[in-house]
Amino acid sequence: MTQITYEVLALRYGIFDGRKQFQNYIVPDDHAAPDPLDFFVFAIRGPRESTTPRTIVMDTGFNAASAKRRGREIICTPDVALRNAGIEPATVKDVVLTHMHWDHAGGMEYFPAATFHIQAEEMAYCTGPCMCQPFLRRPFDVEDVQSAIRALYADRLRVHQGTVELAPGVTLHLIGGHSGGIQAIRVPTARGWVVLAGDAVHLWGNIRKRNPFPVVVDVARMLRGFDTIEGLADGPDHVIPGHDPLILHRFPPLGTNREIVQLHLPPVG
Ligand SMILES: [Zn+2]
Ligand SMILES: [Zn+2]
Repeated sequence: MTQITYEVLALRYGIFDGRKQFQNYIVPDDHAAPDPLDFFVFAIRGPRESTTPRTIVMDTGFNAASAKRRGREIICTPDVALRNAGIEPATVKDVVLTHMHWDHAGGMEYFPAATFHIQAEEMAYCTGPCMCQPFLRRPFDVEDVQSAIRALYADRLRVHQGTVELAPGVTLHLIGGHSGGIQAIRVPTARGWVVLAGDAVHLWGNIRKRNPFPVVVDVARMLRGFDTIEGLADGPDHVIPGHDPLILHRFPPLGTNREIVQLHLPPVG
């Protein structure tokens, strides 16, 4: 274990209460059972040992207009969620886009000073021939893809090809499966290696039961991704899914704000 450690926060900004189990598992136990999803952005702060710590944000969330259009309940916009944790989005220098789906890439406007980090395979996927298929295009909003291309032409999009070290000890990993080139982040923390899986793992149930989420481009690759993610993390509780409502219950809150939890601390339940 490296000596370098970071703080990691999950910040909930949205809720999708009306979701059913068949929408979250390819093989549901109880087809119509309620199975809500939460929407998060994640923040990595550190290294704690450095005199010049930095903040990396994972995913930008969606904005109020997309929430209305897609029928999702928003608690606050992601920029407000970050400010509630003492992070000013306008000053954040590095934002990782796990993938280009609307609920992850819809808030690039909140980060005017940031360089965005994405995998080449994801950019190729969301601008390539698969987008001629309405079914595959559905989780994307063209405005977000345009924003990414504008960032590319403004030298504000770093297009990575596989594993890369973003900050000392913090690495990006190409996973794929759920989207063309989804990536995850591995972070050293005081409790060990934590992996922010993004939508490579939506819910702990998906990875623990090896029962994939139905929004998927390549099921075999998603299942191999579960193995990769488990191999990168120090244990099952070190894998942090992208949309699991249990996250807020399993980790200690940041102060009195129940919508923000500290993932670098051991689980509480
Ligand atoms: Zn997604
Ligand atoms: Zn998502």
